[in-house]
Amino acid sequence: MNRTDRREGEDAMIFETKTCTGCKTCEIACSFRHRKIFNTSISSIEIVEKGLEFEIRLHESDQDGHLTCDGCEGREEPNCVRYCPPVNRNELKSVIEEFRWRMTH
Ligand code: SF4
Ligand code: SF4
Repeated sequence: MNRTDRREGEDAMIFETKTCTGCKTCEIACSFRHRKIFNTSISSIEIVEKGLEFEIRLHESDQDGHLTCDGCEGREEPNCVRYCPPVNRNELKSVIEEFRWRMTH
């Protein structure tokens, strides 16, 4: 499982990823799921470049315009996972499952 941590002043869980390509399709898919718009500034998920790799941030509360991730509760598959390219889909699925577990335990 990916390492997670919280940074001071951030209300988000941080996940490292080895396979993410940084395409940001997940951010777009998330904003559409929330508000039926394509606007990554409201997305619950953020992909942040870290050198040659990326990290995934999932918002635990509404902050700086970003909406809280509810894990796409009630949906068969989270929208971000659904549109993530196959190269990283399984890893992102694990990240969302881990996030949901941590939010409820
Ligand atoms: S699980 Fe749903 S709400 Fe959370 S980041 Fe993915 S699309 Fe957005
Ligand atoms: S998590 Fe998936 S959809 Fe999001 S930027 Fe990475 S590869 Fe693209």
